[in-house]
Amino acid sequence: MYEKVTANESMKIFNELLSVPSPTGREELVAAKILEIAARWGYKGEQDYAGNVVIRVKGNGKSKRVTMLSSHMDEIGLVVTRIELDGKLCVHKLGGTLPWKLGERPIEILTDNRDTIIGVASFGAGHSQVGQTSVDWNNVRVITGLTTEQLKEKGVRVGSVAVLPRSHVGPVFFGDENDPMIAAWTYDDRMGCANLLRVLKTMKEESFVPNCDMTFAFSKQEEVKGNGIKPLVIRELPDVLLCVDGGTPFPGSGVTADGGPVCLTKDKLADYSFDVILAIKEAAKAVGQELQFCVTDVAYTDASLALQSGGPLRVGHVGFVRENSHGFEVMRYSMLDKFFNVLYSFVKTFVP
Ligand SMILES: [Zn+2]
Repeated sequence: MYEKVTANESMKIFNELLSVPSPTGREELVAAKILEIAARWGYKGEQDYAGNVVIRVKGNGKSKRVTMLSSHMDEIGLVVTRIELDGKLCVHKLGGTLPWKLGERPIEILTDNRDTIIGVASFGAGHSQVGQTSVDWNNVRVITGLTTEQLKEKGVRVGSVAVLPRSHVGPVFFGDENDPMIAAWTYDDRMGCANLLRVLKTMKEESFVPNCDMTFAFSKQEEVKGNGIKPLVIRELPDVLLCVDGGTPFPGSGVTADGGPVCLTKDKLADYSFDVILAIKEAAKAVGQELQFCVTDVAYTDASLALQSGGPLRVGHVGFVRENSHGFEVMRYSMLDKFFNVLYSFVKTFVP
């Protein structure tokens, strides 16, 4: 029934990336996966000492400037803040999420022994909390069924990080057969990574050479204020950084999941570069795709964080739109190609 969803090129790559946990700070499995996928098409990727993945594509020399396209590898997660005497774990958000996004469900904790253990997030007895309308992280425990000694042996400590087990992350397909909804915990930002990889694959298939050297970057630690992209751009010093990440229907923004991809022009930290915005607009026009322009004062991206760090000189952003950001995110099937088409058109036409 949903064959066309699973056959979509972005979805195929996304599914592979979704198959490994990648909480902020523990992106090593998804980094290896990205290198493995790119190698299939003949790309030799590199990893810097921070753990960011970089794939370089030579341009045709029309412009001597360098463009970096970047998506972040890390996903929203949890961090252990205390281990109680009964072996229950106190946790807090790792990146911007909320306890009610999580709910009571299985959790996979990444250990120092480089494996994982399962626990279940718990908010306590429902019977005694009827009528209670809010929860914070102090209300959350993760039941592990292990003693403090056993947890120590297994390599779980304060600072260990956790995500949802792979059996609970989706994707799930539903809705209109002609343009179904696809839900997953979370797209952000493996769907960006999948699109960068799809661009690399398509460039290879079409023997396309861009107008400038392009660096495809897969950054760490975006969800905790861009601590992967910052050292990367300081070392690479790209002239332009295009952030390829989610677009969010912020309340009041008018952005909708049924519209086109988002181009963020201003966020909490920065005004994005005028000529990069125009280039994205032209790229979208070239493939007959409407964009949704967006400004926000409640969020930032790797692009604005990088600009503030002093690395790139100009920045832009293009985003796939999904609802339920930083939770069980929902996107329309048609967004997959709408987004890829705009991104690939940008790669084909941009002259910095
Ligand atoms: Zn993101």
